[in-house]
Amino acid sequence: MEERQTIRRVFILGMDGAGNFVREAATPHLDAWFARGAYTYFAQAELPTISAECWGSVLHGVKPERHGLTNERVAEAPYPPDSSFPSLFRLVREREPDAKLASFSGWGPINNGMIEDGLGVHKVSLPDAELVPALLGYLDDNPDVRLLFLQLDEPDGAGHRYGYGADSPSYLAAIGVSDERIGRVLSRIEALDLAKDSLIVLLTDHGGGGADKRGHGSAHPMDRDVFWSCIGPGVKKGPLAGAVTIADTAAVALHALGLGVPADWDARVPAELFADSGADAASGGKTAVSEENGLKARIGGGPGRTDAAGRAGAGLREDGSRAEDGRV
Ligand SMILES: [Zn+2]
Repeated sequence: MEERQTIRRVFILGMDGAGNFVREAATPHLDAWFARGAYTYFAQAELPTISAECWGSVLHGVKPERHGLTNERVAEAPYPPDSSFPSLFRLVREREPDAKLASFSGWGPINNGMIEDGLGVHKVSLPDAELVPALLGYLDDNPDVRLLFLQLDEPDGAGHRYGYGADSPSYLAAIGVSDERIGRVLSRIEALDLAKDSLIVLLTDHGGGGADKRGHGSAHPMDRDVFWSCIGPGVKKGPLAGAVTIADTAAVALHALGLGVPADWDARVPAELFADSGADAASGGKTAVSEENGLKARIGGGPGRTDAAGRAGAGLREDGSRAEDGRV
């Protein structure tokens, strides 16, 4: 039966700065895939709610004070190959020397400053509109990829430019554009018949508009509450009731690949995520339950995609110097 199928590859597909405003944006692709797996609109971003800190935790499984990544640092220096807090990619590489690993990012510092060099990771840093075609071409040629990461950048750029929140049409439109792009990736995964033995995590790193309408970094729920979904063999379907942090993504990925989760990681496999095994002994289950994490009623409708205005946000960051630098 499907639930017993081995997971052969993991996709981590994310967009930057979307918070849980996918509830108000037009995101038909995400909505459809959430329904195929586990999901929450109240996963917790790391603090501070800034991209380097948050994606750093997604990719390294530890809290920002341990990986030490900041927007300034990732823009300037490659991630040390001998760090005590290796990336998910390094951990997979050390255990599987021949595994195909790939990272596609709209924000270059992820590939340059978070994922170690010299691991043989296929790294592509391009604006979002060019990034997805590059990913699709790679996937066509490498359906046996073991771990593939995608970060689309435009929602965050639109938030900085137009303001974050449910009342910001251009921001919601940018989230809708990213939904369409992730939808193309998911459709290709299906077309290549990879969904049946893949684990897919859909997420964003943080929201915005909590303390600052055009910024983020605070612990305000608008900055910190984020969508997070996991779809794949053995994954329970429906809303996740327990606590999830974005760092948990790294533990879920390793667990799904059959690799042990480092005991010193902050990341854990959410206790109720897998229907059969749940969080095993190695991963240590999270049992804390927050009422906030339950599925809240989706606000119906919402503005549709209006035009390409939201895309303009991408230009804010082409050189890696972020609009948010120094703003928090
Ligand atoms: Zn930002």
